[in-house]
Amino acid sequence: MALVTESKRLDLIMKKAEIPANESARISALCGLEILDTPSEERFDRITRIAQRHFNVPIALVSLVDRGRQWFKSRQGLDAAETPRDVSFCGHAIFSDDIFYIPDALADARFADNPLVTGAPHVRFYAGAPLHSPEGQRIGTLCIIDQLPRESTSPDLAVLRDLADCVEEEFKRSKLLGAVEQVKGLTTRLQLATESANVGVWDWDVVGNELVWDKVMYQLYGIDPNKFGGAYAAWLAGIHPKDAVRANEAIQMALTGDKQYDTEFRVVLPNGNVRWLKATAMVQRGADGKPLKMIGTNWDITESKCAQSELQSRENRIRALVDTIVDGIIVIDAKGDIQTANPAAISLFGYAIDEIQGKNVKMLMPEPYASEHDGYLNNYLTSNIKKIIGIGREVTGKRKDGTTFPMDLAVGEMEVGGERMFTGIVRDVTERKRLEQLKSEFISTVSHELRTPLTSIRGALSLLMGKAAEHLPEKARRMLEMAERNSERLTLLINDILDLEKIEAGRLEFDFKDLDLVDVAARALEDNGGYASKHQVQLVFDQQVTQAPVRADEHRLLQVFANLISNAVKYSPTGGTVTVSVVAHDDKFCVEVRDHGSGIPQEFRNRIFQRFAQADSSDTRGKGGTGLGLSITKAIIERHEGQIGYESESGMGSVFYFKLPRAGAGQCRRLEDQQHDTTTSICVRALICEDNPDVAQILAEMVRQDGVTCDVAGTAAIARGLLAEHDYRLLLLDLTLPDTDGLTFLRELRGNEATAQLPVIVVSGQALEGRATFNGNAVTVVDWIQKPVDRMRLGRALQDALHRVKRPHILHVEDDTDILEVTRTLLEDMADLTYVTNLREARQQLAAQIFDMVILDLGLPDGSGIELLEELQGRCPVVIFSAQIPSRDVTAQVATALTKSMTNNEELLGTIKKILNLKDTAA
Ligand code: ADP
Repeated sequence: MALVTESKRLDLIMKKAEIPANESARISALCGLEILDTPSEERFDRITRIAQRHFNVPIALVSLVDRGRQWFKSRQGLDAAETPRDVSFCGHAIFSDDIFYIPDALADARFADNPLVTGAPHVRFYAGAPLHSPEGQRIGTLCIIDQLPRESTSPDLAVLRDLADCVEEEFKRSKLLGAVEQVKGLTTRLQLATESANVGVWDWDVVGNELVWDKVMYQLYGIDPNKFGGAYAAWLAGIHPKDAVRANEAIQMALTGDKQYDTEFRVVLPNGNVRWLKATAMVQRGADGKPLKMIGTNWDITESKCAQSELQSRENRIRALVDTIVDGIIVIDAKGDIQTANPAAISLFGYAIDEIQGKNVKMLMPEPYASEHDGYLNNYLTSNIKKIIGIGREVTGKRKDGTTFPMDLAVGEMEVGGERMFTGIVRDVTERKRLEQLKSEFISTVSHELRTPLTSIRGALSLLMGKAAEHLPEKARRMLEMAERNSERLTLLINDILDLEKIEAGRLEFDFKDLDLVDVAARALEDNGGYASKHQVQLVFDQQVTQAPVRADEHRLLQVFANLISNAVKYSPTGGTVTVSVVAHDDKFCVEVRDHGSGIPQEFRNRIFQRFAQADSSDTRGKGGTGLGLSITKAIIERHEGQIGYESESGMGSVFYFKLPRAGAGQCRRLEDQQHDTTTSICVRALICEDNPDVAQILAEMVRQDGVTCDVAGTAAIARGLLAEHDYRLLLLDLTLPDTDGLTFLRELRGNEATAQLPVIVVSGQALEGRATFNGNAVTVVDWIQKPVDRMRLGRALQDALHRVKRPHILHVEDDTDILEVTRTLLEDMADLTYVTNLREARQQLAAQIFDMVILDLGLPDGSGIELLEELQGRCPVVIFSAQIPSRDVTAQVATALTKSMTNNEELLGTIKKILNLKDTAA
């Protein structure tokens, strides 16, 4: 040991104890001892006492140099428990492993003015042996202090070092004791933890086959500690027979090192109960790698096993359900990728599961749906606007082989593990569609078949009621009225059923045109006026806009109006008012039909638009109607991209309304214009016999303005030829002709059977003279018009002539002789009729005679009436009168198409007269 003697340099002032470079490691070693500020201990005091006595000093200390102080774990001869570090001697002593030795502090410049030297405890002599922590850090000193200067010998200081070593030994002991305490605490805590978690701990001495269990192990196995064999076999004996082999294998594999010991098995408790245990363990091996020990744990997992098996069996049940369900189930994620599909879905689309799993569901759809699907899904995810989800609809599916099929799709939404998923339930509806098709074809056929007999019944009844009613006894007349009423109802029902069937099949044709809704409303009011007055209800038009351009099918709209107005009238009290209004609503026009009748009963409201729905089923008899009107009306409005609705208060009345999108301005074409178009399409032909071409042209123009087309003949000879070729309805005759005298020509015409009845208007410079000459035969000339021509007079004469036309000759082609009979009776007063019942006869007649009109049935025994249309083209107007509603193409080729059962006697008669240009009174 080196002895440090410090030189005396009295002129220097005190040197403070510096901080060593390893200060933080030193402090952490000091703190690690957990000794600072602990009570004094005999084992340290014993050493300081020995030092005090051995060196015969007043003060001996175990001083520990803390951050800013020196603290005394043991002190002899000093009251203070600590002093500041910077004035301490020990602060200097810890800079070296050597003993720090100051023989006379007053003679040492570093300490001469130190307060511990100049004041209490008046240090003159100091010797401190550094104390090391168990890690080797200098954490303080064992020091001796005297108030007198002294010299110490090396042997003396060696004793101080020995004593310091004793102190260091005590430090080590402290550390060890702390560790032991820690282990004790840890063990207690571990025991507490394993016990409270019900984890059993076992320790198996592999070599000596000694098995030690803790308390919990005995509880887990239900074994009395005194009755446990304490060896491997004793443990294995408690394992469930079905698991014993596996449990033993797990241990053996752990011992060989093939597999970590982590297993589950059942144990059979002495009371027969079975418990599931989970077991883990570690193997300790000797230097040669041979297993020495296994230490492990067991804990009870019966509850989670039961829950798991319950879960498993529930999952099995659900899986069995999903697997055997006849509907296909497909689950997709938010991207549209297929997560899973059940066997029904797989066989429906003809794929194997791994061919679709993970792929986008688009593959199961044909175009354009496939391309639209991503957009639809994104739209839904961002906007939440549903088109299918939670609603369901019929869509088209695509099989692996590319074929498509109709399917019902219902989609539900769910959240699995925070992710949005969609479940689609699909059902192939091919068969259902086929049956529906069969059903609607059946209904359609039956209804069509009913139309023809019903038309003759209605027609005959109507004729009977009209012509012969006054001669019938009262009772018979009442019976006839009843029959007529019921045939009307039956007709209504059949027409509605056929309409509905067409709507549902998407076969109802719409002829969309730009129309003025105000015009249509006005027309509807006019059409339904008769019905309203029959019920003594007043119809009022509350027109709030002058024009309401919409794009619509006029005929269908009139049907909508008719339904809403007739309902409103039906449910209005006698003397009530029904108001129809057209109002503008943003980009739509709204038609409202308001009544002050009974209103819609609350309980009926959710069914009102359903088929055959009537608030009061006795209405069928009481008010008439089928309960189909509103569902047809709704379908029609929806095809117009409109909406229908109502507001109603029981007993106060109802407002039914529908809204149609506004059409672009200027697109609206007045109905009158269109009507004009149709009248002019009806072909009436006149012959002008006039030698002066200019006059002929003026006359032709005047006549054309009245909707009559004409040919011009400059001579009587040309006129004769044209008359033989064409069927003219009128002759305009000049009396001065180049080849014949006009009057002579007139007489010639009257003498000829074909032209005897031809209406003639004489237009001539000698008209008045001619008339005088022709006196007595005047009836055969419509008018004698003097040139220059008075336009008004010519117009009147034309109208007169056209209505005084010879009896028209009509060919009726119809295989139902009852219908023939009814039309014959209906038309006999105004026309000559020729009847044929098939196409062959019709062709014969058309070859032999000229007809003014052909009434044509379509369903004929030897073919369709449509076959005749081409042959008839341009020869005379054709009216289709059939149980079938012809296509628009066919309708375009004829003057009009009437449907049996939808047309009553008056309508048929009115239409024929209109086409033949006959006055209404002619019949
Ligand atoms: P219907 O041919 O029976 O009139 P609709 O489908 O047109 O068939 O109407 C169905 C039912 O709705 C009617 O039977 C009636 O009960 C009720 N209804 C329709 N309109 C009115 C109304 N304006 N006032 C009272 N009830 C009405």
